[in-house]
This record gives sequence, C-alpha cells and structure tokens, in this order.
Amino acid sequence: MAITREGRICSFCTTPGGPGTDVVLIGGLGAQVCRSCVDTFHEILHDEERVASVRATMPWERMSDAEVLATLPQILASAEQNVFFAQEWVEMLRERGITWAEIGRILGVTRQAAWERFAKRSASKSATA
Ligand SMILES: [Zn+2]
Repeated sequence: MAITREGRICSFCTTPGGPGTDVVLIGGLGAQVCRSCVDTFHEILHDEERVASVRATMPWERMSDAEVLATLPQILASAEQNVFFAQEWVEMLRERGITWAEIGRILGVTRQAAWERFAKRSASKSATA
C-alpha cells in the first residue's frame, strides 16, 4: 500500500487537497500544508510586528466563542488525519517486514500493545508475526 496525499486536508485550514484537486499539499509526518497557509505563514514570519503579535498572544485569545467552537471540528479532522497517517506508516513498516516487536520497541510499548493499537484496524491486511 502506497502512502499518498489523496484525500488529505491541509492540517492548518482543513482545505481538502492533493491529487485530483487544485490544492497542492506539502508536508510530512502526517501534517500537510496548502499553498495559502504557507503564503500566510511566510508573510507573518517576515514581518517583525506580526511575529511580535503572534508571540504575544495565542490565536484563540483573539477569537470569539463562535470561532473557537467552529474550530473544534477542524482540530479533530487534522488529528484524525495524523492518526490515519500513523496507521498507514505502521502498515508500510509491516510490508517492509518490520516486526511488531520492533514497532513496539520504538514506541516504548510491548509487541502486544503495538499489535493491539495498529493491527486491529488493518487485520485483513497484516499477519500477527
Ligand atoms: Zn491551509
């Protein structure tokens, strides 16, 4: 199974992107970012006043309750995308022949705990070796 950007969202604004869309996503480790967010972040990072503003307050401190509430589904969508990516990553490791013991060791858990966390979601694809 190849890991692709198909069906992904920008981890920062949740705009759907990737293949088949006009939205280019780049990133890694599960996080994806769209061109619009990169441009916005670039503008902020090269404007000392805006950097100072960002450092002085967290974004949600400037948001209304309605805006904070509306952001919750976006946070969960981004988090779920990362969990899905971790699942795909483990499946890729398994396809490469990495054992559950090795996966467990790098995660600081037992082989059994690693298997229980990840194999149940892909039981039809993976053996329990
Ligand atoms: Zn974005």
